[in-house]
Amino acid sequence: MISFHTYDFQNKRAIVRVDFNVPIDKNTGEVTDSKRIAAALPTIQHILNKGGSVVLLSHFGRPKNGPQDIFSLNQIIPKVSEMIGSTVQFSNDCIGEDAYSKSQNLRPGEVLLLENVRFHDEETNGDMVFAENLSRHGDCYVNDAFGAAHRAHASTTQLATFFPNDKMPGLLMQAEIQNARKVLMEAQKPFTAIVGGAKVSDKVLIVENLLNIADHIIIGGGMAYTFFKAKEGHIGASLCEEDRIQKCIEILDRASSMGVQIHLPMDSIVADQFAADAQTDTSKSDEIPATWMGLDIGPEAIASFSEVIKQSKTILWNGPMGVFEMKAFEQGTKSMAFAVAEATKNGAFSLIGGGDSAAAVQLFGLSSEVSYVSTGGGALLEYFEGKALPGLAALEA
Ligand code: AMP
Repeated sequence: MISFHTYDFQNKRAIVRVDFNVPIDKNTGEVTDSKRIAAALPTIQHILNKGGSVVLLSHFGRPKNGPQDIFSLNQIIPKVSEMIGSTVQFSNDCIGEDAYSKSQNLRPGEVLLLENVRFHDEETNGDMVFAENLSRHGDCYVNDAFGAAHRAHASTTQLATFFPNDKMPGLLMQAEIQNARKVLMEAQKPFTAIVGGAKVSDKVLIVENLLNIADHIIIGGGMAYTFFKAKEGHIGASLCEEDRIQKCIEILDRASSMGVQIHLPMDSIVADQFAADAQTDTSKSDEIPATWMGLDIGPEAIASFSEVIKQSKTILWNGPMGVFEMKAFEQGTKSMAFAVAEATKNGAFSLIGGGDSAAAVQLFGLSSEVSYVSTGGGALLEYFEGKALPGLAALEA
């Protein structure tokens, strides 16, 4: 792979694929969380400092049937300019004459942001002609969009083929892969994976792959109740995926034959309805009354999970332990965040998988107390499922 550090950017126009899919306030149009822009800044600044110019490509939301104002990257120009520290130019299409003339006229130190690549269906279809048209914007291609690396889209994958000797991962992409590899290939033992969230079906593949490398797998959140059902427990009205019960039985059997300890929450905070002001109680997770549902792990589970986490040398966390968006059901997720932070302080390496787990760690003010918070939810999950990421593979080919 070509090295971003040693590549000569002098007088070159670098096409940089970033993930600027940031949340914005619907009323004011202001960026409400600029983490993803911040994450791409070191790559952008490096190229500018080395005498190059930057053409930024990104997707933004999921537009259907062409351009829509609510998905225009135009809205984030003030924020991007402020964060880069200079006025960023904009073209309201990512291909076409206006865009080409702006990219061709870029001088060293200048930055151009092109409109949402997903305004063209060819982007998600991975269209080669569209990718070739995008390639006309620059002399080299840098992919820094780890959050989109699991998608075989034109700007994340096909575009790389037009720069056989001038394609490379940016600094964020490199950091993401290095940190994921630390867990996937070089985990110090004991290695504990914490997996939560709503659905077993979303996490089956990662749990199966983790059986090969983890010593402990802590399972919490809504997905835990299908496991209890598989063990013939009474789970009331908790989330359950009937068609995954057999798979849960297989996972539990394989774990015990492989010597991997699966930890399920022995107790739960249960509620009489899915609501922030529901009536709540504590119950054994396999004895939940008929109309009640488990919405968080209980105090015994918190204590035993925390103990396992604190003894660990490597920790991977993907998915909350309960409905942490509601105060009444945040304690499990909050306690795990604090346990992971404490283990990290004592020398463990902790990787927080994007999405809800990253949001939770941020909510509890612990983002800087863990080793690394990934920016990629789906991409990280697929990496840990053992799948090749098309965006990364295209840079290696
Ligand atoms: P995921 O995207 O699969 O990681 O799921 C995250 C979502 O799972 C969050 O929005 C949580 O509110 C939800 N969740 C976690 N635990 C439960 C539970 N016990 N019952 C229902 N939803 C849950």
